[in-house]
Amino acid sequence: MIQDLLTRLPKAELHLHLEGAIRPETAVELAVRNGVPLGAAPQDLYVYDDLAQFLAVYGRICQAVVTADDFRRITYEMLETCARSGARHVEFFISPHAHFGIPFATQFDGIRAGIAEARADFGLTALFAPGINRELGPAAAEEYLDACLAVRCEEMVGLGLDYNEAPFPPEPFAPVFARARAAGLQVSAHAGEGGPAAYVRGSLDRLGVRRIDHGYAVVQDPDLVARCREDGVLFTCCPTTTRYTTPWRDLTAADHPIRLMREAGLAVTINSDDPPFFGTTLAREYLIAHRDLGFSLRDLGDSILTGLASCWLPEGDKARLRVEWEAEIASILAEDQTTMQTVLVSR
Ligand SMILES: [Zn+2]
Repeated sequence: MIQDLLTRLPKAELHLHLEGAIRPETAVELAVRNGVPLGAAPQDLYVYDDLAQFLAVYGRICQAVVTADDFRRITYEMLETCARSGARHVEFFISPHAHFGIPFATQFDGIRAGIAEARADFGLTALFAPGINRELGPAAAEEYLDACLAVRCEEMVGLGLDYNEAPFPPEPFAPVFARARAAGLQVSAHAGEGGPAAYVRGSLDRLGVRRIDHGYAVVQDPDLVARCREDGVLFTCCPTTTRYTTPWRDLTAADHPIRLMREAGLAVTINSDDPPFFGTTLAREYLIAHRDLGFSLRDLGDSILTGLASCWLPEGDKARLRVEWEAEIASILAEDQTTMQTVLVSR
């Protein structure tokens, strides 16, 4: 019952990686067709227990995606899965540099086709942001931004910063982020997942982001928590990911950072990151937030509207969706209260 209700809530997915959302059977099929050895059966493909192992698998799978139609297919399938979890709007990261030798234009063409098809079939909207691989350094990031801007399309609205965080602090990327902002791109950065709270602060101060992907280490710096609350910084949190890539592996712990971030009044949204890699879905992440991390249904409804207010859609679209989603969320939450009353009366 509760899972059904959580699935039906209208949602924005704001932290998901296209290549981390490839279905294992699709990855194997594309790898065979394109002659890329993956070295594992579908059921064994997504097995690892830290970020480095995860990134190794991620890299191999990226190389299995080659043609524009491959990119169309993985985009469409990812959005189909999101739609099944109640997503109405999706903002996702891509790693075009990880597909060695495949022109960015080919990749973008396929992704756009996948978005258009999913919009027609499922009625959802989607935007994307190339993520900078911080491990490659700022000079490579400058070239990467140039390559992305050269094939920029209307769905490419942002720039992210991802891959292994420590020991790659955000500050060296300040010039490339300044250039991206000047070009009219929205910006966000992965910070405080494997790195310290100082990387969250550095991303805000030097990269000019107002959206932090993960951000869990913020709880170790009370002054920074207060600042983020006052400034309305948005944290795109991914509960299940914390079990694999962070020190906070017990989602039911009283000191789990997502729980503490919510209790501290930070703007937190629930997202799925790399769902099949971590054996999850967006709707399941909402269940985990409710069951393990102390989010009431009302908290989840508020979190959805907070995420919508800070997402990268045009302001007019956001205002229209807010009216629709507010009414829909209220109606779904009232349904839960009706159910609760029925249960109480029948006892
Ligand atoms: Zn991520």
